[in-house]
Amino acid sequence: MKRPIKIMLGITLAMIVILGVMLALNGNILQGRLSIRLPAYDQTKVQKSVRKVKIPPAYNDASCKESDNGKDFSNKGNIDGKLAGGQTHKDTDFCIPSSFGDDNPELVGKLREYYCDEDGYVKYEDYSCPTSTHCYQGACQSDSALALKGLYVGCTNPWVSNYDSSANAENDSCLYLGNKHIPLTRPFPINDEEEIPPAYIHQGSILVIVPSGYEEYGEAMLQDLQYCQNLVTNFLGINSYWEDIIAKIYVSKDGQTSGEYNPEIGNIIYKKSQENLNDELQEVITNNEEGFLYNSSPSYCANTHEYTHFIVAKTHIPWWANEGIAEYSQKYNQLGSKDEYVCDNDGWYGNDYWGDGQYKKFEYSNLLEEYGNNLGDGPKWYHTAMCFWELFEQSFGHEKLIEAFQLLRLKDSEAVQLNEPITKFFIEEILFEVVDNQDLKTILDKFGFTKGVDYTF
Ligand SMILES: [Zn+2]
Repeated sequence: MKRPIKIMLGITLAMIVILGVMLALNGNILQGRLSIRLPAYDQTKVQKSVRKVKIPPAYNDASCKESDNGKDFSNKGNIDGKLAGGQTHKDTDFCIPSSFGDDNPELVGKLREYYCDEDGYVKYEDYSCPTSTHCYQGACQSDSALALKGLYVGCTNPWVSNYDSSANAENDSCLYLGNKHIPLTRPFPINDEEEIPPAYIHQGSILVIVPSGYEEYGEAMLQDLQYCQNLVTNFLGINSYWEDIIAKIYVSKDGQTSGEYNPEIGNIIYKKSQENLNDELQEVITNNEEGFLYNSSPSYCANTHEYTHFIVAKTHIPWWANEGIAEYSQKYNQLGSKDEYVCDNDGWYGNDYWGDGQYKKFEYSNLLEEYGNNLGDGPKWYHTAMCFWELFEQSFGHEKLIEAFQLLRLKDSEAVQLNEPITKFFIEEILFEVVDNQDLKTILDKFGFTKGVDYTF
């Protein structure tokens, strides 16, 4: 009973939501970025469009009835009447899905708008929604309205380099463009998100979404993510699976603050309390050295932890190695942020924030097991995982670390069907492929991966 639950938990945690450690770091004021602000209230307009009064057709022998008024492309309507051939026909306006368009691919994504013709018969028009709108749920809706719902940003806006004009919102095809960017798939607002209309800040392959009013903070984030692109990619020696990245910063209803990376959709998400976000905005504006983005520079990526997850995403990496590399990458790419933590042969040094506050040595956690629920268990486990990679690099060099990640990227696409436990795969088919010697066994032993253990985590 227990093991499958643990595995499930591990996989869920690793694959769906990887919680990051938020850092109280610092930022620069950065200027001159392109800021795209979509009209925030279009959605309201669309939704509040008053259903117009039904106007009976001029000749209503055929008794054609529809719930919207003739060719009303911005509302979804129902129709009930007869075709010119005499058959009764009931239908609803809809967006033509790709399955429908096999013979007529040019129809895909158009709106099939039903109306009663002047003779009182049911007719339809396949209508191309105008520029800056897309067919969604039986009506042409403005792209900004769709974006506000958190839907189909990638399909409907030109900031995604692989904009696919054949994609349409109705059948979700725009969400599945191989490794092309998948936009926000969560609805706006996310369930614990304050409903503040978002502002979009975009440059190159990076899109930052912030609540309106926090554009300056968003611009600084975007600049930092550009630095991360160079630093973290070079550090790991591999490119991201995703071509584009979205970072979303939102205000939480519950006042909590956390960071996460979702490897399935390529999004970094920071949820912040209103107070926290206000502080961070002020820190950017005043160039306060306490700010998260203050040190951001070509040699310092404030978003290293989550950005490392972004690069590693879609590889077959166990959770401990993923969190460990995110932490170790931070030590490298956010100089000064991890100075306190020193990895030793049989434990790590740091301040005992969970006890007497003294600087001391802690034993390494067992990475083969999840961390416990006691205060400090999580951070201790993270520091241990960081030290795994530090000891690995000290013994074998940075080139071997890069080789491991390159092999990981390669094997992931080769070996889709893996029956063995992920840690076993990672140790035997990645690490020992790259450095097959006794020193690696010695390191693994320090972290709980003792010989003879069936790696299950
Ligand atoms: Zn993490």
